[in-house]
Amino acid sequence: MEYYSTHINKLIEQLSHLPGIGAKSAQRLAFHIMNMPKDQVQQLTAAISGARENVQYCKSCYTLTDKELCPICSNPNRDGETIMVVENTRDLAAYEKTGKYEGVYHVLHGAISPMLGIGPDDIKLKELMQRLQNNVKEVIIATNSSLEGETTAMYISKLIKPTGIKVTRIASGVPVGGDLEYIDEVTLLRALEGRVELK
Ligand code: ZN
Repeated sequence: MEYYSTHINKLIEQLSHLPGIGAKSAQRLAFHIMNMPKDQVQQLTAAISGARENVQYCKSCYTLTDKELCPICSNPNRDGETIMVVENTRDLAAYEKTGKYEGVYHVLHGAISPMLGIGPDDIKLKELMQRLQNNVKEVIIATNSSLEGETTAMYISKLIKPTGIKVTRIASGVPVGGDLEYIDEVTLLRALEGRVELK
């Protein structure tokens, strides 16, 4: 790629490290950025570093948030005795969009995957078990219906079962391997309402 300037090459290289961005998309984005007004580029870079600097894990549910406690955990109207376990903050957002779920969440930040070498200690599972020492009536496992999501669901249910807390799994109306964030709200609600207790 000697035909571009060093600066553009550097930008293309950085962009191509992002998920879903191949060499071609990285080039397209780089040239788009070159054509943007300078102040817009500054806003973009400020937004990126501002988010990275200021966003942290909620100390209760581990979602990404600006404060110590996220708006959901600090809302007294939410039912803190029902915890929905999701793989990431995007899945949490998908359920929040339905506007019908009144409990709280727990964000694992991943799923167990022996193939990728991701074990139970690599996700926020210990943190979930700690939360169960408070008053919890039900844990709803809403991990994806991929192999990793199902493995994680089974693992969690086996861990929780001995505590006597009710463990449910969202209904499998959710397409196999489907990322929760791409599923429409009606389907999500149906999956939530049709959840079954894991025995
Ligand atoms: Zn929270």
